[in-house]
Amino acid sequence: MQDKLTLMIPGPTPVPERVLKALGKHPIGHRSQEFQQIVKRTTELLKWLHQTNGDVLTITGSGTAAMEAAIINTLSQGDKVICGENGKFGERWVKVAKAYGLDVTTIKEDWGKPLDPEKFKSILDKDDEIRAVIITHSETSTGIINDLKAISRHVKAHRNAIIIADCVTSLGACNVPMDEWGIDVIASGSQKGYMMPPGLSFVAMNENAWEASKRSNLPKFYLDLQSYKKSIDKDSNPFTPSVNLYFALEESLSMMKDEGLSSIFNRHKRHMNATQEAMKSMGLDLFAKDGFGSPAITSVEPTGLDAETIRKTVKVNFDILLAGGQDHLKGKIFRIGHLGFVNDRDIITAVAAIESALDQLNELKKPLGTGVATATKILNKQSN
Ligand SMILES: *Cc1c(COP(=O)(O)O)cnc(C)c1O
Repeated sequence: MQDKLTLMIPGPTPVPERVLKALGKHPIGHRSQEFQQIVKRTTELLKWLHQTNGDVLTITGSGTAAMEAAIINTLSQGDKVICGENGKFGERWVKVAKAYGLDVTTIKEDWGKPLDPEKFKSILDKDDEIRAVIITHSETSTGIINDLKAISRHVKAHRNAIIIADCVTSLGACNVPMDEWGIDVIASGSQKGYMMPPGLSFVAMNENAWEASKRSNLPKFYLDLQSYKKSIDKDSNPFTPSVNLYFALEESLSMMKDEGLSSIFNRHKRHMNATQEAMKSMGLDLFAKDGFGSPAITSVEPTGLDAETIRKTVKVNFDILLAGGQDHLKGKIFRIGHLGFVNDRDIITAVAAIESALDQLNELKKPLGTGVATATKILNKQSN
């Protein structure tokens, strides 16, 4: 059977019918009044999602465009920065920062472990000249959630540094109160918690970030956020944005607004708990350190088994796409995305498919049905 694919990877994520329909509309002029109204409404909703009174700018480009924009708009050649690195996306921050000639100190942890906020504090305490701390909130490659709140608090105690966070798989999955936590810059992308196809990304900037942008001397043109800021104040864009993705954005953000932030966060938490416990009950180990599992993604380390074989069996038998491990984790872990447009049925189905695949491979260590029973109990107990 064709066209029955279920995405359970951490992006692209499933897209609701309402959002797909919006994409199929005929484009309209991007300088029309009608479009400016859409820009106005989506900008308000984006601020709501980020829990900020600052600016949230929309870029046509993937999440990495937002990451690059965050750096080149707030920093200057040779600036000292600290990058947290405990996975693939932390590595990406380091690469972008180095590509622009920043003086990078990395604070590393083994993949699967969270960043240690105290290490940030001790470097910040010793060095007045650090201009930015740059971290990944939910490290998608390992399924770890880093303690953004604690790290941000240490940055706030420093005189000169701002904090820049990749919240691509945390925004719309768990609480990221930008203003309350004092996050200066947040990068995110449409194909994750936003329940949209890839193609738009977002950079949120507060006052400190705009202050920093005045000093910034790194080269920029398409991603010069000053021009996005000038345009957004007139409900417009500096260039031709992806008009149809804007239609989709308005639909998806409206759906999120209707559901409400606390319901969205609670749903992701239940799905994380159900997925984690179901895997453990089947005798599979979790890769992320206890208590630091991401609400968006669960990484499973099926010790002694080839993770790719399990992942492929699930794909072939059930047309459910799970993510594999990246780099040295290839074959060691598989990852279950439960981010965005995901309901209880998706979780139960994914757990059942993994359980069935293990059974077929003669690798199921517990009675058939154990994983599904565990997930079901948790979903029933922890109500919506
Ligand atoms: C998906 C993702 C990105 C963005 O990647 P793009 O492919 O450029 O959209 C950045 N950071 C994290 C943590 C991600 O999961």
